[in-house]
Amino acid sequence: MRVLVVEDELALAEQLQQALEQAGYVVDRAHDGADAHYKGEVEPYDVVVLDLGLPVMDGLTVLRKWRAAQRTMPVLILTARGNWDEKVSGIDAGADDYLTKPFHMEELLARLRALIRRNSTHASAQWVCGPVVLDTRAARVTVDGQALTLTGHEYRVLATLMQHAGQVVSRTDLTEHIYAQDFDRDSNTIDVFIGRLRKKLPPGAIETVRGLGYRMNTFDQAA
Ligand code: CA
Repeated sequence: MRVLVVEDELALAEQLQQALEQAGYVVDRAHDGADAHYKGEVEPYDVVVLDLGLPVMDGLTVLRKWRAAQRTMPVLILTARGNWDEKVSGIDAGADDYLTKPFHMEELLARLRALIRRNSTHASAQWVCGPVVLDTRAARVTVDGQALTLTGHEYRVLATLMQHAGQVVSRTDLTEHIYAQDFDRDSNTIDVFIGRLRKKLPPGAIETVRGLGYRMNTFDQAA
């Protein structure tokens, strides 16, 4: 899952990036409104953390421009304490949730999980595809209750497939959701990660859809 962190306070941006990476996200950062606006227009983020007080272009303007351009990714805004009217304006501009600074990182992570969940095919923080269970809180995967050892990239590929379980995910989509913007991307590496995941997962868990991509088996008919 890929997240854009828009925050001009560098120490906080750094802290957010570390916590999110630890939670299994791929993180891009923007430190002003113009850069944020550009990245949000061209990159497919699963969720955005958007500070409202930003240089160059303020966060509300960024959000309004995204929504006017039909960019529908979930956005959580960060507002200053006591600025209740910012929350109202933010929600009117298309924010999906808000947090008041200062906040606890755990609360931010929980709110992001909830936003991503609304956009996925799963109803809870545990994503279940038959014997395969991905716990988005712990960034951990089990098969029949046994913990899997996955590299960061393997986890992110599997999480992207499981987020859209039962639906075809293209190699391009997978590539865009496992690498940050400045990473040298190569969609051939996706096939390598899929191959490794298949060795660790039950047979048939990841289906190849010829010419289109891959699909995570929901195992709905298996029972
Ligand atoms: Ca700020």
